[in-house]
Amino acid sequence: MSATFREVSLSLDKLRTIVQHNDRNQAFGAYHSINTSVESSRELYLQRIDVCEEYLKGFSQEKLTNSLPAVVSFLREMEAGIKTGFLEIVGAKIPVEAYFLVQYFHDLTKSKNRFVLAEGRAFESGSVYEEVRTELSDLPVPLPQGTQAETLLLGIKNEDFLKIYYEALMFDSPLTWPLFLHEVFHHTYETDKLEEVLQVHKVQNEIGAADGDWVKETVIDLLACALFGPSYSVSLSEYHEGFPGGGTISHPSHSARLYGLLQFLGDIYKRKNETSSIVGDIIEESFKIVESHWVGHRREKEELQKQVKVVYERAYPLIQEYFRRMKLTTFIASVADGKDAQEFALTTKYITYGIPRATDPRILFNSLVIQKESVSPHYVAECLKKWYLQEKWQSVVNQTNLAKSPIVPRSSSS
Ligand SMILES: [Zn+2]
Repeated sequence: MSATFREVSLSLDKLRTIVQHNDRNQAFGAYHSINTSVESSRELYLQRIDVCEEYLKGFSQEKLTNSLPAVVSFLREMEAGIKTGFLEIVGAKIPVEAYFLVQYFHDLTKSKNRFVLAEGRAFESGSVYEEVRTELSDLPVPLPQGTQAETLLLGIKNEDFLKIYYEALMFDSPLTWPLFLHEVFHHTYETDKLEEVLQVHKVQNEIGAADGDWVKETVIDLLACALFGPSYSVSLSEYHEGFPGGGTISHPSHSARLYGLLQFLGDIYKRKNETSSIVGDIIEESFKIVESHWVGHRREKEELQKQVKVVYERAYPLIQEYFRRMKLTTFIASVADGKDAQEFALTTKYITYGIPRATDPRILFNSLVIQKESVSPHYVAECLKKWYLQEKWQSVVNQTNLAKSPIVPRSSSS
């Protein structure tokens, strides 16, 4: 093996030690399910080092001349990619309880993906296998012959983990956490073939949208709003107001996205009398917040706004039909006839007094909308923790029938 390859090999050994022993976020250890996910993703990154070593061995047996620098820099990039990819999971600064919220979103959408949270540059998602595949597609020379790399890659594919990213600056802003639901729905969109179910092509043709990607994004926002409630629209609206991206090829511009949300809010606003007064206030406040952000942009891309309105009108009934079929309860159905009124009232009272409470996340986050003061991330994390522990305990009780034979203290004979 040449000196250059030996150097790469040594630094891969160092990387292996880093991946094996790094445990920057000790908080994972307290929760079995999170710990298992993080450990499984660690395993995948160790396998990625194995892949890299296979290529190293393979290349070192080839007669490389002028292509040597390109191959070495490719191996170095793979190495750097593994380190970054792994550290953005174990080093994520978001409170560990955010995992409970994302698991809740998975349960709410009946999605079965295995996931880890990662700190990144935006709210987006990817997977460990996708990462390595993207890197490999950048290789400027043919792959070496006779390695085990493909078999190892297949192993990574079979054990793959979804990486759900939050934007690094937002780690302590619980108001943005509902945006994770958008990422969860991106995957449901594929697995449940929602493009067909919600007739996305049809509306795309109707409005003459050349690029269907933004239509999909609008539909995903509506799915999230309808299921989680107005707080999702407030999250999206506040987040974009703070960081106006101006819209990309895949995501429609700010004005259009907000306009889409307003259609939804306007629709449930009309049904506000069917709900309790507190839920009515939440809907009204959400509408006001989103509208106040939209007003400043209402002259931008007016044509696109009109198109988003059509997407909304066509997709919303189909979304409701899809939820009914999947037995998923929309926000408005969960609060109709004043249902959950007491839960909302109690949650609001607890928030006012600063006492964390085990509250269903949908009720908790929607209640946050009407708070005058901003609520600390520690408070929200503590509520999520209490709620998760209560649910977990309840499922243990249900499974073991503890309820039928309660543990009673030894009675003092009196
Ligand atoms: Zn998206």
